[in-house]
Amino acid sequence: MLSEHSLDNLKGVGPKQLEKLHKLGLFVVQDLLFHLPLRYQDKTKLTAIENAVVGSEVLIEGEIFSQSLTRGRRSSLLVKIQSTQGHFLTLRFFHFHYRQAQQFTRGKILRVFGEVRSGPNGLEMVHPSYQFISVEDNPALETTLTPIYPTTEGLGQASLLKLMQQAMNLLKQYPLKELLPTALLDELQLPDLNSALFTLHQPQPEDDLRNIKQFSHPAQQRLIVEELISQQAGLQLLRQTEQKRLAPALAHSQTANALLASLPFALTHAQQRVLQEIQYDLALPHPMQRLVQGDVGSGKTVIAALAAIQAAEAGFQVAVMAPTEILAEQHLNAFLEWLEPLQIPVAWLNGRLKAAEKRFQLAQIASGEAKVIIGTHALFQDAVVFNRLGLVVIDEQHRFGVHQRLALHEKGQNQDTHPHQLVMTATPIPRTLAMTAYGDLDISIIDELPPGRKPIDTAVLSNEKRSEVMEHLYLKCKQGIQAYWVCPLIEESELLHAQAAEVTATQFSDNWPDLRVGLVHGRLKGEQKALVMNAFKNHELDLLVATTVIEVGVNVPNSSLMIIENAERLGLAQLHQLRGRVGRGDLQSHCVLLYQPPLSETGKARLNIMRDTNDGFRIAEEDLKIRGPGEILGTKQTGGLQFRIADLKRDSQWIPTAQYWAKNLVAQDAKIVELLQARWVGHKIDYQHA
Ligand code: ADP
Ligand code: MG
Repeated sequence: MLSEHSLDNLKGVGPKQLEKLHKLGLFVVQDLLFHLPLRYQDKTKLTAIENAVVGSEVLIEGEIFSQSLTRGRRSSLLVKIQSTQGHFLTLRFFHFHYRQAQQFTRGKILRVFGEVRSGPNGLEMVHPSYQFISVEDNPALETTLTPIYPTTEGLGQASLLKLMQQAMNLLKQYPLKELLPTALLDELQLPDLNSALFTLHQPQPEDDLRNIKQFSHPAQQRLIVEELISQQAGLQLLRQTEQKRLAPALAHSQTANALLASLPFALTHAQQRVLQEIQYDLALPHPMQRLVQGDVGSGKTVIAALAAIQAAEAGFQVAVMAPTEILAEQHLNAFLEWLEPLQIPVAWLNGRLKAAEKRFQLAQIASGEAKVIIGTHALFQDAVVFNRLGLVVIDEQHRFGVHQRLALHEKGQNQDTHPHQLVMTATPIPRTLAMTAYGDLDISIIDELPPGRKPIDTAVLSNEKRSEVMEHLYLKCKQGIQAYWVCPLIEESELLHAQAAEVTATQFSDNWPDLRVGLVHGRLKGEQKALVMNAFKNHELDLLVATTVIEVGVNVPNSSLMIIENAERLGLAQLHQLRGRVGRGDLQSHCVLLYQPPLSETGKARLNIMRDTNDGFRIAEEDLKIRGPGEILGTKQTGGLQFRIADLKRDSQWIPTAQYWAKNLVAQDAKIVELLQARWVGHKIDYQHA
């Protein structure tokens, strides 16, 4: 069996190479078969220089026209070749030998392969592979695609190819077991496993090379589907385990009605629906696993408070975790306002409590005196001992890793019961992505904003208009509105980042001494940050200059103008989050996205989406298309989303299909599910891409 056939049985595999292969997560021959090409090089046809597209990898032939050396910090060898039509391509070498340079004499014919770039003097290729062509020596073009594998340092493509060759020969003798149901393969018209593997590792000239290159060949699709099915099945198993666990059944609460009656507003229909879903779950003796998605400002906090009341009234504790201190503080204020009149004691924990205060809060938590505990990830600390934790609320989930979510869950384990979990996020996640990233959770969506909210009016302006925008902001503030000015990260340095914000704040105070300007950035201590935020909240400041620390959750309804600098550098989801800080009150809000010209076509298109819609879901769909899942979920979230062949950006259309078949398999064929898991999730490795 190839799943047991160890790699050192292959020719040319010594201890050193074995180590490299292990580093790639390859242990047995079967692993090698599922180590699929990352991409393909196409050396089957020549491209004329005039038809070469910047960014594509092509094979080009031309006659050497000139060669020269550039001097400077890095000397380089430039070889100019010319097509028969008279178009030029420059080959650029940074590393070269004198002898090598001598070979490039005028008039010789070169065949080169590499990525076409646009250089200072037209098209160029940096370090192409090349060969000299002559009448006597004119090798035929390749007849099929060349696979390029993910690899690691010290293990070249050539060595990998040799191993693949041997693995494929073994595959002929010992075909792998087909794990996908015949009905699925028939319905989707996909090939069987073994022939798919042959096609992908050794594409034949008669195969559809174009589709293989674009990863849309049926052979690829069947592996993508199989991998996605295996991932979905894994999530469903996780869910089943969770559903078998016990949790305290929390009866419906009368006190929640008291809060509802005291609120100055009525819940929207969407809030009511989501609240009902939560209340129903909480009353069951198994842990709720629910994700509430609701656009910024849709009113998730009050829903969390109502759930907290239900747990507290049943005699259980509730932990509410927020990703930043600003946000935790804001929740603390809201919960105190809502819960204290109902005699529900609230405790809090953050990183900057004084020792005595912290001891006091910890004692309140341990004794069970405190019912609702609000904090940042300080809630994880060993010193924190909960007393009958019945519900965990995690706000702005995308800021936490899956592991942190699970850790808090485990912390609340009490003999054999687990707390209920309510996870909230303002990042609208496209449905297919949610199925993958949060497939172990039930999803509730608050798809309605409180009445009276006016869509934010957004303008996209060049940075050349910066001083006009500043002036406009000043005039608006003088009329009584409050504004944010956001300076996003430009350099990967917190210091420079903070400085950019400081410079802007100073520009404002220098120009308009009567403007009350506040500044928050990541380098401020928590206490200072809280002071500034409170001053802004109380309208003791007109303008808040900030870095992206204000991205999540901050709620100051009187602020109705936001300027975001260098908007072109931010993900759309993040821009949407930032923009959501305004438009929270009755005023018509405005947002100005400043960009640094020149702006690329896609750059322009992206910012225009922001201008054209306030719909977080549409924005998220676009972001998924343009930037991929990492941007939407945050890098921490994507940890568990590494695939060998599937790509959530490219293949998301398969996810519903995969989920459907995974459900069938989990219900009907545990053995197959186990084999799929072993095949695809056996060991996950970070590839250093070739
Ligand atoms: P988010 O979903 O972004 O966390 P919040 O919970 O901070 O939103 O709510 C934003 C604001 O809207 C808060 O001031 C909150 O009290 C208010 N709010 C919540 N629900 C309603 C509603 N149904 N009608 C009017 N205002 C509401
Ligand atoms: Mg919120």
